[in-house]
Amino acid sequence: MFACSLCGFEAPFKHFGASLPSVCSFLEEGWLAVDPFSIQARPVFLGAPCSACGRAVCTAEACSVFYSKRFCRPCARSNAEAFPAAVRKAAPNVFAASQQQ
Ligand SMILES: [Zn+2]
Ligand SMILES: [Zn+2]
Repeated sequence: MFACSLCGFEAPFKHFGASLPSVCSFLEEGWLAVDPFSIQARPVFLGAPCSACGRAVCTAEACSVFYSKRFCRPCARSNAEAFPAAVRKAAPNVFAASQQQ
């Protein structure tokens, strides 16, 4: 079971890695599930471990940001100056000082 440590999102996962056998691959390694409603076996990217602290985070806008690696919200925020302004602007839910929903 994949569980996001920030928002509590849970989903059963099929595979940990960057791709499922014979289907498209992702830019990063993470927890993958297969979309049961699609005709073709289409992998769904559930989340990935934060590359800084290692906690599992989902790909929701408020939980993590991907900038060459996956970073959870607390790590991204505490290292905000390490991210380009364009990345910070594209992920306002992660970098906003006050919690915005
Ligand atoms: Zn989450
Ligand atoms: Zn982290």
